[in-house]
Amino acid sequence: MSRSAHPAGPRHADVLPEGHYTAPADDLNALDPKVWAHTVGRDADGVVTVGGIAVTQLAEEYGTPAYILDEADFRDRARAWRTAFGTDADVFYAGKAFLSRAVVRWLDEEGLNLDVCSGGELATALSAGMPAERIAFHGNNKSPEEIERAVRAGVGRIVLDSFQEIVRVAHAAESLGKRQRVQIRVTVGVEAHTHEFIATAHEDQKFGIPLADGQAAEAVRRALQLDGLDVIGIHSHIGSQIFDMSGFEVAAHRVVGLLKDVRDEHGVELAEIDLGGGLGIAYTSDDDPREPHEIAKALSEIVTRECEGARLRTPRISVEPGRAIVGPTAFTLYEVGTVKPLEGLRTYVSVDGGMSDNIRTALYDAEYSVALASRTSDAEPMLVRVVGKHCESGDIVVKDAFLPGDLAPGDLIAVPATGAYCRSMASNYNHATRPPVVAVRDGAARVIVRRETEEDLLRLDVG
Ligand SMILES: *Cc1c(COP(=O)(O)O)cnc(C)c1O
Repeated sequence: MSRSAHPAGPRHADVLPEGHYTAPADDLNALDPKVWAHTVGRDADGVVTVGGIAVTQLAEEYGTPAYILDEADFRDRARAWRTAFGTDADVFYAGKAFLSRAVVRWLDEEGLNLDVCSGGELATALSAGMPAERIAFHGNNKSPEEIERAVRAGVGRIVLDSFQEIVRVAHAAESLGKRQRVQIRVTVGVEAHTHEFIATAHEDQKFGIPLADGQAAEAVRRALQLDGLDVIGIHSHIGSQIFDMSGFEVAAHRVVGLLKDVRDEHGVELAEIDLGGGLGIAYTSDDDPREPHEIAKALSEIVTRECEGARLRTPRISVEPGRAIVGPTAFTLYEVGTVKPLEGLRTYVSVDGGMSDNIRTALYDAEYSVALASRTSDAEPMLVRVVGKHCESGDIVVKDAFLPGDLAPGDLIAVPATGAYCRSMASNYNHATRPPVVAVRDGAARVIVRRETEEDLLRLDVG
């Protein structure tokens, strides 16, 4: 599956192991703006900087590993989504990608809404002052307590995921004397992943209610009968790391088909359609993500066309990007601990973190890039695998990449595009203490999530 067959620096010209690597960049010191946050560059000494601060200084102050987040970049991306979708559509940031109180405040200030999918995410959102009516509550098995808290708080919508939940939410709303706005999540038989999508995918997954065999229509039928529920629309989320809009075309076609059936059967035109998230980002220079304005235009055209065909009023569209907003805004800063060349294979570079701060490589076979951050180097490229310090041979951060051949212990390296699903999926494996998230903006850095301490770990262990 090697994408490009010309990876040779002289050091590895003869024998190259199989892998996903692409040829080394002409200049290993260059930082491809596609995969790095907007304000990242190098200073006169060659040290990587973000928001005007050198990573050497950040490492000294906050230690490594650390997630370094470019706040200006986050705000730019959030605003770009907001602007692209305008006032006729809503953008819900998917909090599961990365959520903290600072993030909630940035979203609030930039005019975005917020998706949560657990009581913990809801508590974070509310404690940072996100107005409840701008929160959507997701999940395939919300507990009765979570449902009650969400209804009581007055969240703008609950996305219903099963027949049981239709009844539970209606019951919670009625007993609180409320009418809860809800969407019904359907599975449309489209599975999108990276560069392909499958239009005839089985609805063989835990999320949503299948459109096939009339189940989704039956869910709408039941929900419309319940006094506690205000059915505002239909929800569909087709996958992750999507680059190709054709999956959304099929999804919109099928969702609009349901809207039409609902209109024909009940005389009700549901007002909203949520097309979910899943838009891809560049993890390596090979990825070419679309800009928010292109995505907004494409989705709006697709839905409008489908609705005209079905003689329906065009519903209000909402989308739920998580990765596409936060993913590119952060990189993980590590210190190199050991460098172990394996003759004819590759060089293993061990860093002071690993699968506890980035599980995506082990879990999804994800690809990342990496750069020497504390200096530049003119040494020839060497093929490396960046690995962590955990007791597990699958503990890989970057499977295959090129770094300068003079890389040595004590160097700082940075892995870009780790803003999404890294801190939020971080674990304490091997009793690792989870790294901090440091937000940098206009020459100032501040910790928005502090580093965990051994004391934190021991506090949970009550003996
Ligand atoms: C995960 C998820 C998202 C966000 O996905 P990204 O790939 O981060 O954009 C949006 N909506 C729902 C329902 C999800 O489950």
